[in-house]
Amino acid sequence: MKRVVIIGAGPAGMMAAIAAAANGASVILLEKKNQVGRKLSITGKGRCNLTTAVDQDSLIRGYPGNGRFLYGAFHQFSNQDLVRFFNERGLKTKVERGNRIFPVSDSADDVVQVLYDAVKQAGVAISTSTQVKELQIGEGRLVGVITERETLTADAVIIATGGLSYPGTGSTGDGYQWARQSGHRIIKPRPGLVPLLVKEPWVRDLQGLTLKNVKAAAFTAAGKKINEEFGELLFTHFGLSGPIILSMSRDIGEYLDRQSKPVTIQLDLKPALSEEKLEKRVQRDFDKYARKMFKNGLNDLLPKKMIPVIIQLCGIDPEKECSQIDRQERLGLVQLLKNLAMTVYDTRPVAEAIVTAGGVDVKEVDPKTMQSKLLPGLFFAGEILDVDGYTGGYNLQAAFSTGYVAGKYAAAG
Ligand SMILES: Cc1cc2nc3c(=O)[nH]c(=O)nc-3n(C[C@H](O)[C@H](O)[C@H](O)COP(=O)(O)OP(=O)(O)OC[C@H]3O[C@@H](n4cnc5c(N)ncnc54)[C@H](O)[C@@H]3O)c2cc1C
Repeated sequence: MKRVVIIGAGPAGMMAAIAAAANGASVILLEKKNQVGRKLSITGKGRCNLTTAVDQDSLIRGYPGNGRFLYGAFHQFSNQDLVRFFNERGLKTKVERGNRIFPVSDSADDVVQVLYDAVKQAGVAISTSTQVKELQIGEGRLVGVITERETLTADAVIIATGGLSYPGTGSTGDGYQWARQSGHRIIKPRPGLVPLLVKEPWVRDLQGLTLKNVKAAAFTAAGKKINEEFGELLFTHFGLSGPIILSMSRDIGEYLDRQSKPVTIQLDLKPALSEEKLEKRVQRDFDKYARKMFKNGLNDLLPKKMIPVIIQLCGIDPEKECSQIDRQERLGLVQLLKNLAMTVYDTRPVAEAIVTAGGVDVKEVDPKTMQSKLLPGLFFAGEILDVDGYTGGYNLQAAFSTGYVAGKYAAAG
């Protein structure tokens, strides 16, 4: 019987353990925290966006870096297989807006519990509060792992230690050094889905404000468009966050890293209206509120919190009667609402990112098995790989699918 040691009891490690045991291995799962799935339990704001209900090609497109590497893993364990896995174990799921799949109970803890029960049921030996210190390598082959207390021999080792994000959950990047030690190249770990820091002090006045159905576009210092997204955005005390900002952050972060020049984000607050239509709309409001002061004439157009900021930026006298605002001023206001510019000078650190981009170079990992091409018996699964997805369930799906494949082949090999 093959002996498989798995390092890290996150979604990738737990799924690997279940698959390895199902394929006949004797499995030991080592976790340095005192409980399994710490990060998993905070996913999706505690609701766990398990995966996405899209077809295979759209699934692959959900990974801006190295999506194609995942074809083999998804072929063997798809998003439908994942949903079936949970449904068969009594966890009902539902599809929400944007094809996001959640447990019906809205509880990430339920997801952790189902996985934990499945690991136990498969006969896996789980050892929590056990930190792996090193890999033991002998004569070009992996021999085992060294923990704080003992040396464990193994025919195969799966590294599923995650990335560098939210280190309080246990993901402190331990696996990178072992991968390096085994000859693997590590693509620089960096924030994948992360909030952005904005220079303009007025954004702090908007802290806590969520804007739905806005369009944000990011531009380089030379005016070249980096990317754009439509959807929901959140102002924070340091800048910008929310789904569309997180999705844009990877490319913006890479540009900032490369160029050390700021990025401009232009926000279109009314993307459904052309400038002409918006001007007419503004005029209608000013007619309606003709006898009111400008500062009281924007209530139908903008969220309350936004009004003082727009007044400050557009330069129109807030005490001016709406009927007195001239065309020039109206056009200036329209321009501002269609192109509210902010200077992004940095991202929040990788520790605050939802996912870590970079990691073990996928060129040196067999996409069908997740086995190292450099060191036989060594496997990788989950966020430690140089694969990262958008928000919407993509990162957990990648962790589960690569975990499944690594477990299956570690047991078989
Ligand atoms: C706030 C937040 C919300 C998120 N929400 C979602 C979501 O809704 N949907 C989605 O798809 N993705 C979401 N993600 C991303 C997703 O959680 C991760 O991509 C996923 O957990 C990665 O799984 P993993 O098993 O590779 O690593 P991890 O979940 O990071 O697990 C790695 C495990 O390895 C253990 N470990 C590390 N070093 C050692 C060592 N030396 N010895 C022993 N054990 C070790 C750690 O303690 C940890 O338990 C979210 C992330 C965050 C931070």
